[in-house]
This record gives sequence, structure tokens and C-alpha cells, in this order.
Amino acid sequence: MIKVKRDARSLKDNLYIIEVLKGLAITFRHMFSNLLNLRKMPVIDYPNQEKGIPKGYRGKHRLTKRENGEPKCVACMMCATACPANCIHIEANESPDPTVEKYPARFDIDLLECVFCGMCVEACPVDAIRMDSGIYSIVDFNRSDFVVTKEQLLATEPQDTKKQKLDIKDPRNPWNRL
Ligand code: SF4
Ligand code: SF4
Repeated sequence: MIKVKRDARSLKDNLYIIEVLKGLAITFRHMFSNLLNLRKMPVIDYPNQEKGIPKGYRGKHRLTKRENGEPKCVACMMCATACPANCIHIEANESPDPTVEKYPARFDIDLLECVFCGMCVEACPVDAIRMDSGIYSIVDFNRSDFVVTKEQLLATEPQDTKKQKLDIKDPRNPWNRL
């Protein structure tokens, strides 16, 4: 066994007072420099101001539509099969449109179980489900309200980047620091 000889600690080391003061000096230096230069602080006035969403961000799901307004989804169950959280529930029905075999009579996603992995989007063969809504703040009061229905998914619009309240190039935008 090898014994490693350690340097003896002085009284100053044992008190830690110098290190505590050094730490406090750094904290106060940052606090006062931020207070005197508020515009450079990487904070946003949420929820009055929202940060821009990076391209490819996986937000709340939406179902895409055909030109006639009907869902593109053909109820093939590929997304529900690929979903690792088992949170997509689909009930298939025969489509009244002779050119389409099936449509989803029910299509629910339980957002409390969803892990936002994007596997459903990858698995879909007809680009019927996307996560490009730009909605990242999902809040409600009841657990049941987090189950989004087919109608809600169809009504969700894609993110309009022109409507972003905070420019992605804004120096206050924390995404610019990534
Ligand atoms: S994002 Fe992932 S966890 Fe959520 S519904 Fe899609 S496949 Fe399931
Ligand atoms: S969303 Fe796509 S993968 Fe899921 S059931 Fe509909 S067509 Fe199939």
C-alpha cells in the first residue's frame, strides 16, 4: 500500500474565509455588472415575451390536412407502434373517400406521457403528424386536459417564424449562447 503524503493545512485553509470572500466577490461583481447593464442580461420577460424556437425544435404535435381539409392520416398505426411511451391512441375507421382506405375516427395523444422524442413523426409514411407547432409551453389544470384530441391536433397551426415575438438574433435571446 502506498501512502500519499498530503501537505499540512494551515489555519487560513481551515477557516475557508478567504475562499468564501472570493466567492462572494464574484457573485456581487456579476450582480452589479448585470444590474448596471440590464440589456445584456440573458433573460426574457416571459410570458409577456417569448424566446424564438430553434429550427427543428420538437414542440406540441399537430396533424396535417389534405387539400379538402380531411386529415392526411390513414390510420396505419405506425406512429403508435413506434411510440416508446405508448401515448398515442388511434381508432381506425373505413374512409368514405374511395381513394383512401382508412381514416382515424379517434386520434389522441397524452402529452403527460409523451417524451417528445419525435419517433411518431419519423415513423409516419404520409407526413401526417408533425411537431413543428412551436408550442413548448403546455400548461393546464387537469390531467385529462393534457390528452389532445384529433380535432385539437388538426386545429393546431405550424409555427409562423415571422410571428416570433423575439428575434433569434436578439443578444438577449439565450438560444444565441448555445
Ligand atoms: S414524440 Fe415520442 S413519445 Fe411523444 S407521441 Fe411521438 S413517439 Fe410518442
Ligand atoms: S399519423 Fe401517420 S403513422 Fe400515425 S397513424 Fe396516421 S398515417 Fe399512420
